[in-house]
Amino acid sequence: MHDPNEPFENLRPLDVLAIAAHPDDVEQTCGGTLLSMAEFGYRTGVLDLTAGEMGSRGTPDIRIQESQTAAQHLLLAWRQNLRWPDARLENTITARMTLAGVVRRIRPRVVILPYWAGRHPDHYRASEIGYEACFLAGLRRLEEDTVPHRPFKILYSSLYANVTPSFIVDISRQFDRRMTALLSYTSQYGDTETASDLFPSHREIEERLAAIARFYGNLIGVKYGEPFVVKESMQVEDIVNMPVRSI
Ligand SMILES: [Zn+2]
Repeated sequence: MHDPNEPFENLRPLDVLAIAAHPDDVEQTCGGTLLSMAEFGYRTGVLDLTAGEMGSRGTPDIRIQESQTAAQHLLLAWRQNLRWPDARLENTITARMTLAGVVRRIRPRVVILPYWAGRHPDHYRASEIGYEACFLAGLRRLEEDTVPHRPFKILYSSLYANVTPSFIVDISRQFDRRMTALLSYTSQYGDTETASDLFPSHREIEERLAAIARFYGNLIGVKYGEPFVVKESMQVEDIVNMPVRSI
């Protein structure tokens, strides 16, 4: 695992970077995919924008610590937290430039962002700031001390959005480990016998995430899946060997 204080400059480029609003977002929405890519041998990483300090359980330091434990379960090569203000994410020029600077330093080929619409403002703001930062990162004159870099691909994780996915990743073999990663956030999913609207119990969260993953898995004929949306069209070379049965 990397040293959390290591400057971004010294980092080896990542193949996949997921940018999320809160610690534990990626564990819910694209953790299985990140794990599967790490198992393929790709270098994966996560940048959480806030430490989730508006949550009524745990503290920012505890949640960041928990996110590092989760990172180990997901086999991430890198995870950082920008500690921006939780529940008040704003798409400012400073935010975009800071994030663009990070993208230039860690040079991901693929960036995973939250879906661009949703209930929590932090999620859609993170999506918008993330997209615009990826664009800015490719401008030569943005910063003098870094080389321009624009990610090749931007994927939106759409697990909580009621939209048809562009594609689904089979996470059947990664599902249990993704759940273990999520349950590393013991300040959020600790105890508990009693579920409430705000804090679902262990069992409730397991059942809920299993049901969602089963739903998406079912759409491609596997046990568990994670959905993504892309804005551009998908290309196919070989129509004879396309996966997923039609009838
Ligand atoms: Zn969140």
